[in-house]
Amino acid sequence: MPSPSFTPPGVVYLVGAGPGAPDLITVRGRDLLRCAGAVIYDALLDPALLNEAPTHAERIFAGKRAGCHAMPQEEINELLRRKAHEHAVVVRLKGGDPFVFGRGGEEMAYLLAAGVPVEVVPGVSSAIASASAANVPVTQRRVSNNFAVVSGSSSPDAVDEPPWHALAQIDTLVILMGLKKIGQVRQKLTAAGRAPQTPAMIVCAARLPDQQIVAGTLETLEQLATNLTGDGPATIVVGEVVSLASTPLHTNREAS
Ligand code: SAH
Repeated sequence: MPSPSFTPPGVVYLVGAGPGAPDLITVRGRDLLRCAGAVIYDALLDPALLNEAPTHAERIFAGKRAGCHAMPQEEINELLRRKAHEHAVVVRLKGGDPFVFGRGGEEMAYLLAAGVPVEVVPGVSSAIASASAANVPVTQRRVSNNFAVVSGSSSPDAVDEPPWHALAQIDTLVILMGLKKIGQVRQKLTAAGRAPQTPAMIVCAARLPDQQIVAGTLETLEQLATNLTGDGPATIVVGEVVSLASTPLHTNREAS
């Protein structure tokens, strides 16, 4: 219950919402939403999930909208701290898993330093759920013994530039936030020794109604990207496992 006089900090739950469909949140995540006094949420969610929160709960959008700046991270951190003094249960709802490229770790560190208790509720990460949306396992005996998840959005001179030479040796490579830099991703991987004929696919809006899957090879990635419509989040998967894909390799809608 929201109470203006509530001061001992409540608990901030960093909840993973899963990759898209509202029924892919964990039971614990949903239960917490149902008793939340405030929900601070990001963009990559089906809004239906917010209906799980009590009608009186505060719903605060903290994500990025096309063409608009996201709320600065410092502001989100401070908002969470403040809300913890207004409500016993604060849910910070994040797409996928809160600790996979979600800045959940920063939010946790800030809150703990401010004396606010935090609990992390893991979520199904798009890193795995995007591949499985095409029936592609990220590991498979005799095909792929390992996988890595990397961000494709770092700038070429950034200190956080992924170790492409090492990544080129990984059986299954999952690239988040890589669609805008897909040409660079292809070029870096092939320059690092990954065969251009390696099967590759792009899964866009996985587990959402407008899901699209396009598959080909590493060297055709840019071409594949031109077949996508809309601006849903996209994940690139590179590796022999992609040849195991068994859903029709166009859109899910057409498949169902
Ligand atoms: N914490 C999230 C990832 C956040 S980074 C997680 O664990 O899933 C955001 C990136 O995740 C997007 O750029 C995209 O690469 C990927 N992504 C998130 N949702 C997706 C979806 N439904 N389909 C495909 N990729 C998705």
